[in-house]
Amino acid sequence: MGMTIGKIFDLTVKRFPNKEAIYDMRKNIRLTYKEWSEQVNQLAHVLLKEGVKKGDRVSTFLFNTEELATAFFACAKIGAVFNPINFRLTAEEVAYILSDASPKIVLFEKVLEPVISAIENRFEKISFWYIDEKTPDYAVSYNERLVSGTKENIQVEVDENDLYAIMYTSGTTGRPKGVLHKHRNIVEQSLIVIGATKLEDTDVGLVTAPMFHCAELHCNILPRVHAGCKNVILHQFNPKNVLQLIEQEKITKFFAAPTMWNMLLQEDLSLYNLSSLKLGLYGAAPMAPSLVHACHDRLGISLVQAYGMTEMGPAITFLSEADQLTKAGSAGRACLNHDIRIVRTREDGPSDPDDVVPKGETGEIIVQGPCMMTGYFGLDEATEKAMYKGWYHTGDIGYLDEDGYLWVNDRVDDMIISGGENIYPREVEDVLHAHKGVLDVAIVGQPDDRWGETVTAFVVKKDPSVTEQELDEFCKNSDNLANYKRPRKYVFCDALPRNASGKIQKFILRKQLEEIFTKRSTNS
Ligand code: ATP
Ligand code: MG
Repeated sequence: MGMTIGKIFDLTVKRFPNKEAIYDMRKNIRLTYKEWSEQVNQLAHVLLKEGVKKGDRVSTFLFNTEELATAFFACAKIGAVFNPINFRLTAEEVAYILSDASPKIVLFEKVLEPVISAIENRFEKISFWYIDEKTPDYAVSYNERLVSGTKENIQVEVDENDLYAIMYTSGTTGRPKGVLHKHRNIVEQSLIVIGATKLEDTDVGLVTAPMFHCAELHCNILPRVHAGCKNVILHQFNPKNVLQLIEQEKITKFFAAPTMWNMLLQEDLSLYNLSSLKLGLYGAAPMAPSLVHACHDRLGISLVQAYGMTEMGPAITFLSEADQLTKAGSAGRACLNHDIRIVRTREDGPSDPDDVVPKGETGEIIVQGPCMMTGYFGLDEATEKAMYKGWYHTGDIGYLDEDGYLWVNDRVDDMIISGGENIYPREVEDVLHAHKGVLDVAIVGQPDDRWGETVTAFVVKKDPSVTEQELDEFCKNSDNLANYKRPRKYVFCDALPRNASGKIQKFILRKQLEEIFTKRSTNS
């Protein structure tokens, strides 16, 4: 037995039956914990009736909606393995995940039907169910017929060691991998987050980041349900809606990816009453210190950063409120019950957990903790490498400073080697982010016969008059950038390619660079 995600839900329902649990902006519905629990039970009964057994996968292909949160708890209660799919994926990307996870049922958003229709006939064994804004109470539609279950409390024995989910990584570096998590891993994660963000039942949380990602599910929605808070769900991120909802629902805490914080700061903040806000969380991608300072000064709130990855549940470090300004740019200290090491990277295989580098030196970040995945689904070799000798190998490069704070430089694969020197794109990005004419920036290495790679900047302008010369001068005059790290080329663009978690997909930029480069050389 032990503690499970379904049990967390039921215990909160028992503690706070009449408290408002959820407000979904799209449908404009409000549910108390008791009402929400009835919907969770209805869906759980539907799934059982349609033959879903313990261990079967159930996928969702939904926007940020109450239904996604309902499916999350309904699956947990019957021991089905929950598989939330990114609603921004293309038909082929969805097909890849479906063939990998082979779920029994896919619950999809009616407006996403074109994606499903394009691939449905390849999956004879999967039932595709849909919901839309008009679907009453908790019911789902299947072959044009409404399916609904009773509200009775469901009784299925689920153990803390049973699998709870298969969650796909963001696919920032290649094909997404299916990460397997057990109930107890994620129960631990929830407790850690409650402590780190000082959650109380009086807190009101806003869901802005995509709910299919474990950062939103495990670090926001679940801990809030665990603590008995209200969750306000915003259908799709839009800075004006976020600010309106903060005022209307008196939001106290919420998480947003760095790019979302950037968008919020572009709005006229004086139009909104944001006095209820206590804490802002950020993470999932690096956030430039200048942006951290801007959030702090202009929104007047405390911030907490989380660093982590799907494989670890995800959070493995937090940068606390107190350290935001003094340690801006750092990812903070290891979460409770987590151990972090920096080890020497190796060309010929996974780095050895015992080959620890001296304090302050850079190497691969490896970690141990109670929320570590069980493994990648169907990828034994990748699992063995990632979890070599019981440590999760993050593939990220960083160092620990003299106070034990972790600084994440970059991903091993994104590091640039120019003239034999290692250059971390993030350092250069942080400098350019501080230029007032720059809205967004990404640094990548371009293959170069003489230097190995040259540092190239993709820049989205905020001020259209900004020139390459001006940015180059700015880098030259920066105290934080050695000369060899200065970008040697600039490419101006309208937007950077980002995945749904807000991460820059550098493999796309490298490919673009290759194309621009070949075009230029054929032209000359
Ligand atoms: P894939 O593994 O498929 O390439 P992904 O690694 O982007 O995709 P996630 O698990 O969503 O998939 O992201 C984890 C990664 O995100 C980390 O390894 C790290 O590179 C980056 N990251 C997460 N949080 C932070 C943060 N606070 N600061 C810097 N980078 C972060
Ligand atoms: Mg990864």
